[in-house]
Amino acid sequence: MFFVIPTLLLVKTPILECAKIACLATHCSLRFVNSATDKNKGANYSATLNKKIVPSYIPKMAKTFCLDDYDAIGFDLDNTLATYNLKNLLEMEYNCLAEYLVEEKGYKEEVLMKPFNEKSTDFIQRGLIVDSQRGNLLKLDYSGKIVKVAHGLSFLTPEDIKKTYGEHLTWEVTNEFVKDFLATWNGPLSEKMRTFLDYFDMPASLIFARAVEEIDKQNDGRPVESYTVYNDIVDGFNFMFTPAHFAENKGKFFPLIKQHPDKYYKKCSPHVLEWLKELKAKNKILFVLTGSYIDFANHTATTCLGDDWKQYFDFIGYFSKKPGFFTGVNRPFLRLNNLKEKDEILSTELKSGQCFSQGNWDGLIEAMKKSLNKTDIKPLYIGDNFIQDLYTPSKYTHCDTVAVCEEQSAEGFPTKEHPDSSYLKSNLWDSYFYTSNSSEGKTPTIWSDILKKHCKICVPSISYLASEPINKKYSTFNDEDSNFSTDGFYPTR
Ligand SMILES: [Mg+2]
Repeated sequence: MFFVIPTLLLVKTPILECAKIACLATHCSLRFVNSATDKNKGANYSATLNKKIVPSYIPKMAKTFCLDDYDAIGFDLDNTLATYNLKNLLEMEYNCLAEYLVEEKGYKEEVLMKPFNEKSTDFIQRGLIVDSQRGNLLKLDYSGKIVKVAHGLSFLTPEDIKKTYGEHLTWEVTNEFVKDFLATWNGPLSEKMRTFLDYFDMPASLIFARAVEEIDKQNDGRPVESYTVYNDIVDGFNFMFTPAHFAENKGKFFPLIKQHPDKYYKKCSPHVLEWLKELKAKNKILFVLTGSYIDFANHTATTCLGDDWKQYFDFIGYFSKKPGFFTGVNRPFLRLNNLKEKDEILSTELKSGQCFSQGNWDGLIEAMKKSLNKTDIKPLYIGDNFIQDLYTPSKYTHCDTVAVCEEQSAEGFPTKEHPDSSYLKSNLWDSYFYTSNSSEGKTPTIWSDILKKHCKICVPSISYLASEPINKKYSTFNDEDSNFSTDGFYPTR
């Protein structure tokens, strides 16, 4: 997404070749870089993303959910099937990005290389929204109202929030975001706001705040007109996550992941692998859709699930460019050769047991119907990214979703705590799921609202789901309840 094709390459390359390079350049493993490259594809990508934007489908929530009701069950890879030692991962990402900003962008080492520890990380939380120009980080409630704002490392008082965002505590950019979470994915609005949506970009919020604080300090303690910190962070993400860097051992992030797999990945429990076999034995189609490029995804899956990980799945889609995979029509499927993309394959040629890159949801559904010899199938997708994996498939296709959300166990509900809970939960920002307000009780956040409207249930891990019977019936989220409640979260106490 933020990947930039080297200028030199563009100058020396004919236009058609440039298009190919642009395509190759987008082989990015992670959401942030995907989004940047998508944005760089400009009008073409927007058109594709918008093609299916018929936000007509608000799912009617059935009251119960049962895995056994589905013909096809799909999984995201990172932080869903494959899990990480989050403390180590977040710390490493923080250090990679901070070092890049110090070495390449001239930020002060003593400002950014401060400790990333349990105390300082109370400032980070997944899902924070960047108001890049004002240098602010925001938290929104379910209606899009701005309920918390940090400038630098300091939180604004309610009066100051009103002074900045007006009496209604709203901002025109987040208003568009709340109407459709893809509205700010690319195009001009994406220059103004971004969300730190997953564990790959989450530590950047602390870097952003520390940098803004220092800029103000240099400006006699006053905010400046416009901040450019976020653009530098985007350059840092490109440095870290550009897909080609995995093979080239560049960008700090991939070399460290490759060098110390045991430090960063968790091994998948044998009962999860048994559960996948059990699902397949029930004649269900199992598929993986990952945004990661082929080599990194294979490294991740092999480390976590084992060398024979592909045997568990009927279809494996790499570099799927979610959310565009779900919204785009006619995005081509590409064949693979030696962990690289090759020529296009027609969706009608897709067969069970096949791996592909990119592609689109409609084509995959048709292939799965053919494979099951059914005219209609009921699909489910399970993932951790609230916009790419949950909101988009639910809103733009008729696919049910289940959320995997480690914050649930980190915050201690309904059951035991997460081993890295101090890195995931934040006293400063309050719960990921709600904001405590003495007069109104617990007001759901925008992320809770996505769960209620677009997911069946939320679980802390695939491991939990796999420990329960496949025919277990769960009560789903109640989307008519405007207060925060723990209905729909499992396990229950
Ligand atoms: Mg993921």
